[in-house]
Amino acid sequence: MANTLVDDANNLYKKIPFATTAGTVSILHNLENVYIQAVIANDNLAIQQSLKGIIRCKKLLNQDTTNFEKEYSRYNFQPPKPQTKPQEVITPMDDNHIIKNNKNISLPRLKKITISKGSINLYFNKNLKYKDVLFFELNFDKKYKDIYDIKAVLPPNINRNIYYKGISRIQLSQNNKEKIRLVLENKNKIPSTAYIKNNQLVIHIKYIKKQKTKEVYAKATQTKDYKTIKKYSKLIVIDPGHGGKDSGAVGYNHLQEKRTVLAIALKLRAELRKRGYRVFMTRSSDRFIDLKDRTHFANKHKVDLFISIHANAIEGDKKYSIKGVETFYLSPARSARAKRAAAKENKASLINMDSISKNTLLNFLNRFKINQSKKLAIDIQSNILRDLRAKYKGIVDGAVRPAPFWVLVGAGMPAVLIETGYITNPTEARRLFNPFYQKTLAKGIADGIESYFYKN
Ligand SMILES: [Zn+2]
Repeated sequence: MANTLVDDANNLYKKIPFATTAGTVSILHNLENVYIQAVIANDNLAIQQSLKGIIRCKKLLNQDTTNFEKEYSRYNFQPPKPQTKPQEVITPMDDNHIIKNNKNISLPRLKKITISKGSINLYFNKNLKYKDVLFFELNFDKKYKDIYDIKAVLPPNINRNIYYKGISRIQLSQNNKEKIRLVLENKNKIPSTAYIKNNQLVIHIKYIKKQKTKEVYAKATQTKDYKTIKKYSKLIVIDPGHGGKDSGAVGYNHLQEKRTVLAIALKLRAELRKRGYRVFMTRSSDRFIDLKDRTHFANKHKVDLFISIHANAIEGDKKYSIKGVETFYLSPARSARAKRAAAKENKASLINMDSISKNTLLNFLNRFKINQSKKLAIDIQSNILRDLRAKYKGIVDGAVRPAPFWVLVGAGMPAVLIETGYITNPTEARRLFNPFYQKTLAKGIADGIESYFYKN
């Protein structure tokens, strides 16, 4: 078969010189559509041709083309490259070596750590900025973790063994090449707050009881006029698939996908809220939602993760026998199984190509997201299996798979789609409609999310 995506792009391109302004807008939308499909299909020639057309249309419409031109130059001159970069490992060597090899020469370097009564103090070689410190809390496995991510470099000569009375464990590490992570871990909630004082990060740990200390601390920081670093709670969008007129897959005993996925999603919301996350749901009742609206909220707000929940189904000979949990992240489909699942979910709400926003398209240029989504998928899948297997027999690992789901294309942040089980399999269908099973599944997903946040 001919390369239809390239043909589409070329045919659209030829129409540009004869188009009115409105016509140019329409061609542009269609080219954007071809572009997204080409990215999903990994079709470099079609990517290149559609980008060429997009740039030409945008110039005619006086729109900014910077990002597209950047992207175009990557495809125009270079043969396709594998997208995954090996992770850089920081090996303990002398200071100079790290500085030389680190591109982020301008990042602050940790110089020393001191412990004083009521605080842990980190000193850097230059002043810190508030935007470079992120502070959040995780709470899982009956442990509380206060996590400080600092855009800085941790030289190997710094002693990482930190002890603080009342905190069971403190970990200091170079989380990635431009981020130091400090983790305070305890059985109880840790009353830590922090502020920046020039080149110093001060982490206050309020002594257990009474509010007095808090007042003293508040006073102390106020008089010095240092604002505290706001504790930030992660925002997660849960997207229960289908709804309303779209029942999703219909399985054993006419059980409908849209119902089980909503029940699981509601339990996941409760579980995540209990752990201190902010949660938004694309639907929390039985109503129809357009595909593009599912990611709209996520892209408008600073959302950390997008989790779409589905249940699988299969026709034919293996209708009753196939079962298992699968977690998908966005990528061109490879396996037949992934293609089939994608075809089923994509069909549900046929996408209106013209309505894909410019923003969505630009967000999709972010390849980092795909790598992160894969990591998230692995953490979610393994935690679901672990939690379910602790309570149920015969849980099948359907694996983590790449697949081209439209709903994931629209999300500008790490996003996964979970096929929680096959509603065509009698055992799995019954389980998927059992509240205890749903709760265990939700717990598994939440554990996976926390594990992901902890590692990344
Ligand atoms: Zn579905």
